[in-house]
Amino acid sequence: MYCIKCGRKTNSEIISGDNIPRIRCEACNYIHYINPKIIVGALPFRDDKVLLCKRDINPGFGKWTLPSGFMEMGESLEQGAEREAEEEANLKLKINKLFGTYSIPEIGQVLFIFIAKIMNDNFRAADETAEVNLFSISNIPWDQIAFPSVEFFLRNYTKDFLNGKNFSFHSNFLPKKYNI
Ligand SMILES: [Zn+2]
Repeated sequence: MYCIKCGRKTNSEIISGDNIPRIRCEACNYIHYINPKIIVGALPFRDDKVLLCKRDINPGFGKWTLPSGFMEMGESLEQGAEREAEEEANLKLKINKLFGTYSIPEIGQVLFIFIAKIMNDNFRAADETAEVNLFSISNIPWDQIAFPSVEFFLRNYTKDFLNGKNFSFHSNFLPKKYNI
């Protein structure tokens, strides 16, 4: 690849004091750090139901997901989750708490999903969404969920819901049981 600062050629090399190869410009020495991307999203609920969005794009076309997307510069995790829910489903949300994180090291992505209360009635399918629907816990379309991360959050939500709505923090890299 070419340098984003000066357009000259770059090399991949281990820089003194570092232990991972970095892409450095031959001419201006600019180092192109590549770091994981943050995806923010919500698990929107109303009464005893959760809202899912049917995807209108690939990957996962025609399957159900949580409203989510890439965090933008200049916003907080919470603002990003609210923005994505509004863009994809015209949702007005009240963020309740961070429900969990989901790391995908293979592709350098980290998801932050918030439990959020639905505050409006006129939610509808919007950008990237073909359909929105409220599902009761017993009615989640498990065989039509778009991504393993979405299934992870919905499985844990269901488990916590059935455990007296005691929603705890979940991470796909934490052991299921641990002692402090
Ligand atoms: Zn350069």
